[in-house]
Amino acid sequence: MQNRRIVLASRPEGAATLEDFRLETAPAPAPAEGELLLRTRWLSLDPYMRGRMSAGPSYAAPVGVGKVMVGGAVAEVLESRTPGFAPGDLVLSSNGWQELATAPADAVTRLDPDLERPSYALGVLGMPGFTAYHGLLAIGEPKPGETVAVAAATGAVGSVVGQIARIKGGRAVGIAGGADKCRHAVEVLGFDACVDHRAPDFPAQLAAVCPAGVDVYFENVGGTVLEAVAPLLNDIARIPLCGVISTYNATEAASGLSASGLLRALLIHRVKLQGFLIGDHFGRMDGFRTEMAAWLKSGQVRYVEHVVQGLEAAPAAFLGMLKGDNLGKTVVKVG
Ligand code: NDP
Repeated sequence: MQNRRIVLASRPEGAATLEDFRLETAPAPAPAEGELLLRTRWLSLDPYMRGRMSAGPSYAAPVGVGKVMVGGAVAEVLESRTPGFAPGDLVLSSNGWQELATAPADAVTRLDPDLERPSYALGVLGMPGFTAYHGLLAIGEPKPGETVAVAAATGAVGSVVGQIARIKGGRAVGIAGGADKCRHAVEVLGFDACVDHRAPDFPAQLAAVCPAGVDVYFENVGGTVLEAVAPLLNDIARIPLCGVISTYNATEAASGLSASGLLRALLIHRVKLQGFLIGDHFGRMDGFRTEMAAWLKSGQVRYVEHVVQGLEAAPAAFLGMLKGDNLGKTVVKVG
């Protein structure tokens, strides 16, 4: 049996390109005692992977050049060398960008084999959904009637942020790239308003749909979006600092709003800004999964996936997601 895998071919300087990845074929890995042999069914593509391609300072070690790209997967057990697992079982595992992988039994999470959409374990019922839930509720603390603004509003995290804000009685204002995404945010996801951050008069349009200012700004992107939101922040606003995707391909510090200018806005309005890494909170996921599953069932949360076919499609889909080609959570259907 052969394994196909995608490795990091080179470290990008600035924007990552297809040449930074290489598709390889290798012999299938053999599970040791206590391990499982897994076949990847669904691979998650997430913005954090761009950080792992670079060697700069980060909260996690980079992928080595020539090594398999990291990534979460929904996988099927092909062979079990540990009690409690059998061929055919479905698990969540950090397989990376490859068709076959081995993992110790205690490094995987068993999934319900009857899950209607197994890939949701990588999205709304998994890491991105929990990021939205934790960041908005534990740090954003939205109150009924407040305005919650979020960019990348139709993506894996942002789409859930806006819908939870609505469930909690808030006003959800989305910011997204293009008219189609904005229409989707309002008509499908139920946001109260959505503004295209590429529009020439974006700051004015944003101000117009936030007549009472912004109470919670769920920060996913930074850059020009942050510059447009900063003047709209209300007193005692909260900013869950989740991501800064506008900088992930940058070679030097983003220009624009100066760091001191931002601090001044935070000070004047006594804003609480708190960065978080969702991996620090995985121990508290069970309650989230129960609540989110109920919201999905009742239709209060709707989730869209951007599905691409085949492992070989992963690099292009990943680069596309970084610049906004995706509508919803990006996943690769591998096998
Ligand atoms: P998405 O599915 O939202 O995809 C990324 C989106 O970012 C694109 O579709 C695009 O949407 C938007 N984008 C890219 N560049 C820019 C830009 N310059 N300005 C505005 N928008 C831009 O990704 P996720 O939902 O998976 O991730 C969203 C954010 O959350 C990322 O910053 C990610 O790093 C962060 N994150 C942080 C976690 C944590 O633990 N702190 C955990 C998970 C995610 P559009 O076309 O609408 O502009």
